[in-house]
Amino acid sequence: MVVATRPEQQVKIGQTQLLINNEWVESESGKRFETINPATGEVICDVAEADAPDVDKAVSAARKAFTSGEWPKMSATKRGELLYKLADLMEENKEELARLETLDNGKPLKDSLNADLRLSIACYRYYAGWADKVQGKTIPINGPYFCYTRHEPVGVVGQIIPWNFPLLMQAWKLGPALATGNTLVMKTAEQTPLSAFRVGELAMEAGFPPGVINILSGYGQTAGAAISHHHDIDKVAFTGSTEVGHLIMEASAKSNLKRVTLELGGKSPNIVFADANMDAAIEGSHNGLFFNQGQCCNAGSRLFVEEKCYDEFVEKSVARAKQRMVGDPFSSDVEQGPQVDEEQFNKVMSYIESGQKDGAQMLCGGARVGDRGYFIAPTVFADVQDGMKIAQEEIFGPVMSIIKFKDIDELVERANNTMYGLAAGVWTQDITKAHAVAHSVRAGTVWINCYHAFDAAAPFGGFKQSGIGRELGEYGLQQYTEVKTVTVKM
Ligand code: ADP
Repeated sequence: MVVATRPEQQVKIGQTQLLINNEWVESESGKRFETINPATGEVICDVAEADAPDVDKAVSAARKAFTSGEWPKMSATKRGELLYKLADLMEENKEELARLETLDNGKPLKDSLNADLRLSIACYRYYAGWADKVQGKTIPINGPYFCYTRHEPVGVVGQIIPWNFPLLMQAWKLGPALATGNTLVMKTAEQTPLSAFRVGELAMEAGFPPGVINILSGYGQTAGAAISHHHDIDKVAFTGSTEVGHLIMEASAKSNLKRVTLELGGKSPNIVFADANMDAAIEGSHNGLFFNQGQCCNAGSRLFVEEKCYDEFVEKSVARAKQRMVGDPFSSDVEQGPQVDEEQFNKVMSYIESGQKDGAQMLCGGARVGDRGYFIAPTVFADVQDGMKIAQEEIFGPVMSIIKFKDIDELVERANNTMYGLAAGVWTQDITKAHAVAHSVRAGTVWINCYHAFDAAAPFGGFKQSGIGRELGEYGLQQYTEVKTVTVKM
C-alpha cells in the first residue's frame, strides 16, 4: 500500500432539494440531512430529507404522468431520443459528474470517469436504442381468432439504489424503465445523494415531461419503506443488502403485490487453477476484489486457489496488495480511496479482527490509513477455511480471503456452498475445464479469465439469495413490462 498526497480540489455541488414533478422542492417536513466526504469525514452539504408524505407526492406526480399528458402519448422513438439526449448531456458534463461522484462516494476520480461515467452513459444509450424495438408476438391459437401480445409498461415504478455505484445504479434503473414507458420514483442512498440530483437536472434539460422522473434523497427505513409499502406503486426495483431485500418482498406481500426485482449481496467464488496465466490471474483477482474499495456486490471475495500454485499466488498477491496506491481519490495515481462512511469502515475492521481471531493468516494490511477519512490498507488473508466468518459473510471492503483447494471435484461443491449466487470467476487455459466450472457454479454471471467485465447488453443478477430478476440487456428490459394478450374473434 502506498499513500498519496492530497491536492486541493474544487467540485461544483448542484441541486440538493427533491425532484418532484420537474420541480425542485424542500421536503414536507422541511428536514435536511448531511452528506459526508469520506476522504475527510467532513460535511459536504445537506440535502432534503424525504419521508412518506414526499413519497406520496412523488407517486401522485408519477401516476398522473403515467396516465395523462405527454408521456403516454409520446412515441417510443421519441422516448429513445430523450434517453439519447440525456446520455449526450452526461457526456458533455462527465468531468463534473465524475468529480461529484468522487467527492460524495470516495472512489478514485479515474474510476468515476473510466468506469462509472463510461458505463452509465453507455447504459442510457443502450436502452435508448431499445425504446422502439419492444414488441409482442402474434400467436396462432385454436379457433377463428386473431391473438397478439403487447408489452406494456408496468406503471409507476419505485427504485431504491445503493451507494457503491450511485450513477451507474441510477442508469441501470432509469434506462430500462424509461425506454419502456414507465414513470418512476427513485430513492438514492443516504450516503450518496448528490450525483443523482445532477442527473435529474440534466434529465429536465433533455426534456422529460413533468412527473416522469422523480428523485428523492432520504433514509431507507422511512422513505425507502414508504416506497416498498406504497399501494400505488406497481413495481419496486431494489439494489442493496440481502437483509433489506427480504423486507422489500415482505412489504410487497403486505401491500399490493407490487412486482419486485432485487439485486442483492454476494460472496462470489473466484477460482484460480494452476494452469492459468498466472500474471493475468493475480492482477485480475486483485482487481476482482479490491476494485471500488472492495465495495462491489459481485467482488471475488472467496478466492479459491489450486494447491499446486497456491504459494506462488499468495506471495505475488500480497506483493501486489502492498503496492496498491491508497489515498486522496482526486489524485491521478490513486487506486483506492476511503470506504464510504464510518459505519462501513467499522464493519470492515470488525471482519478483519474476526479473520485474525479465527486463525486466518493476515499477510498485509489490517489497519487504518491516515488520521482522517475512512481509509483501510489493502488486506490479504491466506489459509482461510470455508467455515470462517470472513469466508461466509459479505465484507464489502478491501479484504482478500485466499482459500486452498486440491482438485475440481471438491471445488464445485465448496464454491456453491453459500446462500449467495451472484457471480464467479474462473482462471484456466483449459477451455473444457473453464466451461465445466462455468456451468456447474450456481451464479448469475461467470467470468472466464477476466473479472468485472460489465456491458449494458450483458444481463446481470443473482441466483439464490443474491436476487430476483435480471438487470441490463434484453432480459433487464423484460422486467419493466407487463404482457397483455389481446384476442379478436374473426
Ligand atoms: P447497505 O447496508 O450497503 O447500506 P442497504 O440495503 O441498507 O445496504 O441499502 C441500500 C438501499 O436500501 C439504500 O438506498 C437504503 O436507504 C435502502 N434501504 C435501507 N433500508 C430499507 C428499508 N427498510 N426499506 C427500503 N429501503 C431501505
